[in-house]
Amino acid sequence: MREAWLELAATARRMTADGLVVGTSGNVSARFGDDRVLVTPSGVPYEELDQVDPVAVNLEGHQVNGKLKPTSELPLHLSIYASTPARAVVHTHAVHATAVSTLVDELPPIHYMTAALGGVVRVAPYALYGTEELAQGMRAALKDRSGCLLRNHGTIVYGDTLAAAYDRTAQLEWMCQVWLTARSAGAGEPSLLSEAQLAEVGEKLKGYGQR
Ligand code: 13P
Ligand code: ZN
Repeated sequence: MREAWLELAATARRMTADGLVVGTSGNVSARFGDDRVLVTPSGVPYEELDQVDPVAVNLEGHQVNGKLKPTSELPLHLSIYASTPARAVVHTHAVHATAVSTLVDELPPIHYMTAALGGVVRVAPYALYGTEELAQGMRAALKDRSGCLLRNHGTIVYGDTLAAAYDRTAQLEWMCQVWLTARSAGAGEPSLLSEAQLAEVGEKLKGYGQR
């Protein structure tokens, strides 16, 4: 469990280093074995995580390891594990993504990496952090997607691994920055990709990178 915990802690620190969160904002989780989930503790600076006892819960949210209180966003994380094949979840308050969440109901498909999240990224309605209501809105926004924006709040993205969830989060934040930049350039509305163009990319991305 220690090794998996250190990987989770490193991912959480990377969110701060890359400017995707400030302070103890955001949270990270990863499935461990069949029925446990490692989660960041609530309100604990990420630099301290290597030194603390791994915080683990079961799929019903009962704490099974560690003394520190789990993240307040447990409902978001557990709801994703209950409804998708996700093995890892990353939640951030990234600046551009949070800004976009206040402007539109979905991120306009300005770049082909939209397809890496399964299609046009939706914005879940605002609800108080840490609530089942927020999780419910998120579940709808995540239909056939591996990530969404949370209105006036941030991002939530899942993947097969922490690295995959993290990378997609960074891509999502980057696309939000591209759209905001293009839109504020004052030279008219940005051009967008069609559904057919995104579907074509989705197929091609399956073979992206090295064999
Ligand atoms: P936690 O410190 O409880 O994980 O809360 C941070 C957060 O981003 C809540 O939405
Ligand atoms: Zn948050």
